[in-house]
Amino acid sequence: MIADEELISEVEWLLADDSWLARFPHQGATPSPRITCREFIEVCTDVRLDEEQAFEALCRIQQLQQQYEQAIGRAVDLRVTMLDFFTNAQRFQSPRVIEFATYKQQANRAARDDLTGLYNRRAILEALRREIARSHRAGTEFSVAMLDIDDFKRFNDDFGHAVGDQVLKAVTEVLTSSLRSADIPSRYGGEEFLLLMPETGTAAARQVTARLLETTRTLKILPQRPIRFSAGIATYPRHGHDIPGVLAAADRCLYQAKKTGKDRAVAPQEQRRTRPRIPLHLPLTLHRQPRASDVEQVVTVDLSQGGARFLGRLPLSPGSEIDLILCEPEGKKQYLLRSRVVWSRRLRRDAQAETGVSFSSDHSDVVQRILDSARN
Ligand code: GH3
Ligand code: MG
Ligand code: MG
Repeated sequence: MIADEELISEVEWLLADDSWLARFPHQGATPSPRITCREFIEVCTDVRLDEEQAFEALCRIQQLQQQYEQAIGRAVDLRVTMLDFFTNAQRFQSPRVIEFATYKQQANRAARDDLTGLYNRRAILEALRREIARSHRAGTEFSVAMLDIDDFKRFNDDFGHAVGDQVLKAVTEVLTSSLRSADIPSRYGGEEFLLLMPETGTAAARQVTARLLETTRTLKILPQRPIRFSAGIATYPRHGHDIPGVLAAADRCLYQAKKTGKDRAVAPQEQRRTRPRIPLHLPLTLHRQPRASDVEQVVTVDLSQGGARFLGRLPLSPGSEIDLILCEPEGKKQYLLRSRVVWSRRLRRDAQAETGVSFSSDHSDVVQRILDSARN
């Protein structure tokens, strides 16, 4: 597999100034926050290892580099050490050397769709994988929009394939010219486009998509046949906990958009609350895993019959099971609320994280008593 452009640029940086190597692994177990050991080695040498092997290899390479530099009394390029390491110390691996510009060209060609020049499906899935890792680390969310041109088949059928292609290019132009620079458009398949909007919540993704719908309506390829598209939006981790989950959520919304008349964007409905959330600062003891011994004190922001929102030290993984211990404010009784993390995000202003959980079993009696006593 050929790594994508972002990864290659990062490696170029890390090779141009390899002062990070002297601090590795003490100041981080990866060459930089943006790249894993596995990715670094693979882009440099085409040697494929798992992350643990790659980490060990980089530690050995770092020692070798120091030895070589001492022995010959001048700086040694990191690539030379890597190649030496893999050809001599690890004979079962065979590293490759390639000129970076050529490599970048190859990567670019492999990542792009011929007709539109946009990222292809493989490249956008790779970008999504990286975005999930980044969001997870930073406790932020991102959104995707799945776009599908309305009645596209009729452009082909009525005016020929070449006009169909022209329509695809026109929509591509709308995407590339009106998206923010951090957003990544891609051609996901035939007349479907997938947009990745980093650090973007559902409401902002709606605005972006609304603007694209608006601009597309102004396209005038064929005066008698306007170009329109429908879109489905989804946000990680709110609407899906992994790539298939997020894409499935976006797809369901796209289906809704088509079913309800096309030329529109649909986002998942905010869950309708039958039981209100009551703002309440209640101390809870958090066990990050059921029955785990390391505990943390957290404080609720609000509480409802079905779940709670609380502030803690670190974000939690969406979908994970946790235990919350609740002490009745008045009495001395303790209750175990087994819960599932629905979403969790780091708060920008202070070193805290906000987490929303749903209770896995029915605790309505206890919760009702707490809510009643809070009201009084
Ligand atoms: P809907 O509004 O429900 O999305 O209907 P539609 O006609 O857009 O969807 P449908 O899936 O029926 O048709 C998509 C068509 O896109 C069929 C396929 O031949 C055409 N197509 C796929 N890739 C290309 C391409 O690269 N160029 C052209 N010209 N047509 C393409
Ligand atoms: Mg389609
Ligand atoms: Mg279509």
